[in-house]
Amino acid sequence: MKITLSENQIPKRWFNIVPYLPRPLEPPIDPQTGEPVSPEKLLAIFPEPIVEQEVSQEEWVDIPEEVLKVYSLWRPTPLHRAKNLEEFLQTPAKIFYKNESLSPPGSHKPNTSVAQAYYNRISGVKRLTTETGAGQWGSSLSFATQFFGLECEVFMVRVSYNQKPFRRILMETWGGKVVPSPSPLTQSGRKFYEENPEHPGSLGIAISEAIERAVTTPDTKYSLGSVLNHVLLHQTIIGLESKAQMEMAGYYPDYIIGAVGGGSNFAGLAFPFLKDKLTGEKPELQVIAVEPKACPTLTEGEYRYDYGDTVGLTPLIKMYTLGHDFVPPPIHAGGLRYHGDAPLVCLLYHEGYISAVAYKQREVFEAALIFARTEGIVPAPESAHAVKKAIDLALECKKRGEEKVILFNLSGHGYFDLKAYETYMRGELPDT
Ligand SMILES: *Cc1c(COP(=O)(O)O)cnc(C)c1O
Repeated sequence: MKITLSENQIPKRWFNIVPYLPRPLEPPIDPQTGEPVSPEKLLAIFPEPIVEQEVSQEEWVDIPEEVLKVYSLWRPTPLHRAKNLEEFLQTPAKIFYKNESLSPPGSHKPNTSVAQAYYNRISGVKRLTTETGAGQWGSSLSFATQFFGLECEVFMVRVSYNQKPFRRILMETWGGKVVPSPSPLTQSGRKFYEENPEHPGSLGIAISEAIERAVTTPDTKYSLGSVLNHVLLHQTIIGLESKAQMEMAGYYPDYIIGAVGGGSNFAGLAFPFLKDKLTGEKPELQVIAVEPKACPTLTEGEYRYDYGDTVGLTPLIKMYTLGHDFVPPPIHAGGLRYHGDAPLVCLLYHEGYISAVAYKQREVFEAALIFARTEGIVPAPESAHAVKKAIDLALECKKRGEEKVILFNLSGHGYFDLKAYETYMRGELPDT
């Protein structure tokens, strides 16, 4: 039922897919000059080792001992064979899932927050700032910074700060300082705050506040939880472990599935396998990104340069985008409400190595309940998007009598999202 690796089998290197890309990535552009962003500009926000990883062309990047030590608090994570789910669906397909819900913050996000905290620490940084919506990323960064003696300041969208106290308390438990955004602490926040001290806020405003703080405060840098190349790099530990575990199980996946918000958990699982498709070794492998209908970046967005944030402070990034001022309806999979996607994922999608599908909330929660009632774990609403696609494929296999092998990423658990489950079970969830 479960394929486990021992602690000494934890991968010692991250995998960088860049050398295998079918064509080079377009660089981020500085909107002021119209030229590729200079490293100096990036160094105002990120420490040098992170900037190096962001542009690295090397296939393998060593994972520092200190990072491995923190990883080993919960890694390697198990790969599960979802036999109960298979039996429930009466499918001949074999369903596997990688269980990233077992980290202390409850998702894949600490795979990168721990690495980022470490690299900032060795670069002499004393404080990290970031933004958080529902609190997944803020709690992962608060968790990580304490191991390296860094302070962590999290700008949390005020509406979530008021409505979702549990993740705020979790951040504070791990020593994070949580500021409801918009706040009077920054110029970006002050104008909204002074207009209305109870301003509900938005992720866009929170990003602006966090970046402004990093740029204007000594010894302070900013940290981002998805989208960028170095974040995807850190997440490949998921796929590297999974590859070893699938080999132990004696299977190679026909389908790999992940939910896509900014693309990091999806890429983390898929990229080490996708290498085999890019080299022509596994031409039949199908890699599928799943997104919400409410925020259909890959399935309905345009492939062009756009800002990474709402306000327009970041460089222009070549990606699929719904427009940086796109405001998705408030769905419960908060982690998937991003107007763009990782440039690496977008390039591979554009070149046809990845496909994408979008689902509505109710069908996603229906799948989540089936999973909770067969496999036991209550999935995060984000992860439930991957569950839904896995179930759909397994049912197609049943119709055709095919024994395909399906692998998906269970990127997190949903124990802080039980309100959303209650809303669904009462039949009150809007079908967006
Ligand atoms: C943040 C989050 C996501 C979406 O982010 P990606 O960068 O696309 O992985 C998905 N699942 C969970 C559980 C999350 O917390």
